[in-house]
Amino acid sequence: MTTKEPKLNSLFRVQTILLLQKDTGKTGYDLAKDIEQITGKKPSSGKIYPFLHELKDGGYINEVEHVESGREKTTYVLTDKGDTLVTDLLTRMSNLLDARLFQLLDTCYHCGVKLYESKVSENIDGQELTFCCSHCKDAYLNKDRVSAHSH
Ligand SMILES: [Zn+2]
Repeated sequence: MTTKEPKLNSLFRVQTILLLQKDTGKTGYDLAKDIEQITGKKPSSGKIYPFLHELKDGGYINEVEHVESGREKTTYVLTDKGDTLVTDLLTRMSNLLDARLFQLLDTCYHCGVKLYESKVSENIDGQELTFCCSHCKDAYLNKDRVSAHSH
């Protein structure tokens, strides 16, 4: 058995696979409309269907025939394998975002802890310093005075 992982090397592909679901079948047209809603640009069927066929060949999605007002429609649902792929993708994306967000966080000037929400800011000698709590602020101010004199 060939386990060919689909290339997720474009935003279109990532968006499409993230829009597919296990329980709710979506037609190629539904997917195109969903993507248009997110990006403002509707992908052509010449783009959607080849990718859906690739996913189906790889065992990531199944075709389900669905009858709506007497007309048969082909919808696509994620298989367990496809669901695992989506979970892996989300984990990778969330790790990437975590790492990026982590760089944006303030750190306590005294103990170096990363500050997710509450913080104490104090203007010290014309410099705005941020601490995780008032204890760290006080500890820093005391240490600073002591060490400044000891050098
Ligand atoms: Zn601290």
